[in-house]
Amino acid sequence: MKNAIITGGTSGIGLGIARLFAAHGYNLLLNGLEKNGQQIADDLAQEYGVDVTFSSANMQQPDQIRGMVQQAEKELGQVDVLINNAGIQHVSPVEEFPEDRWDAIIAINMSATFHASKAVWPGMKARGFGRIINIASAHALRASEYKVAYVAAKHGVAGITKVLALEGAPLGITCNAICPGYVRTPLVEAQIADQAMAHGMSESDVIEKVMLKKQPIKQFVEIEALGNLALYLASEAAGQLTGSMLPVDGGWSAQ
Ligand code: NAD
Repeated sequence: MKNAIITGGTSGIGLGIARLFAAHGYNLLLNGLEKNGQQIADDLAQEYGVDVTFSSANMQQPDQIRGMVQQAEKELGQVDVLINNAGIQHVSPVEEFPEDRWDAIIAINMSATFHASKAVWPGMKARGFGRIINIASAHALRASEYKVAYVAAKHGVAGITKVLALEGAPLGITCNAICPGYVRTPLVEAQIADQAMAHGMSESDVIEKVMLKKQPIKQFVEIEALGNLALYLASEAAGQLTGSMLPVDGGWSAQ
């Protein structure tokens, strides 16, 4: 039985991945800011008969990130898989982009990936096995207007992914990034409203003309597609797949 940490695992994509991992017998540490995080963890544990522990560590705080990894090592025994998924978004033209949103997005979406990976590294190295999976974005590969911090942070995650893949190669540690297109989660629901304001459009026009315009398959990406890819990346079978940016974006980045 293997153990995984999923940051931002109590909502949206992270929670969907958590369900699949629990269904496949993984013990989990779920992290997130949702007030009912402990309840979500308890429910998953009961439903799937695995150990699920909860951490409300703030991904903006490196000491709390280290504490989360220590908690997982203490309560689960070891960390075999780290899924860096916590993320936020802010949509605004560059000249109005609030400095505090820039700092928060860089910290949560990018720097937390470094801090958490650094903290799990010694254990993975000692055991000769580790899987680090970064939930990046199509915006790790392509840009869109009004998202300067998010695009910068996700491109930064691409850089972290490649460096960790190189350093992990002789150690049995792989690192890959999943790059989703638009997925209908609370993060995107909030963006629909923000983008409508930034573009001066109705919300249905934002979905059709801004979001799905970029995805030749005119559908939101399903969370299960991301979860199943993460399960494969976490497996023994994926030991030679490393340093890859894997788009699940309905064809967006083919353009
Ligand atoms: P979501 O808002 O549903 O979930 C985000 C999670 O991150 C929540 O559990 C939240 O509590 C957690 N989080 C936010 N700030 C945190 C902090 N400071 N400390 C700890 N946890 C924090 O969003 P989602 O759409 O599921 O996004 C998950 C990841 O997928 C993000 O990295 C996002 O950038 C990425 N992504 C999402 C989409 C999409 O269309 N939804 C597309 C591409 C990439």
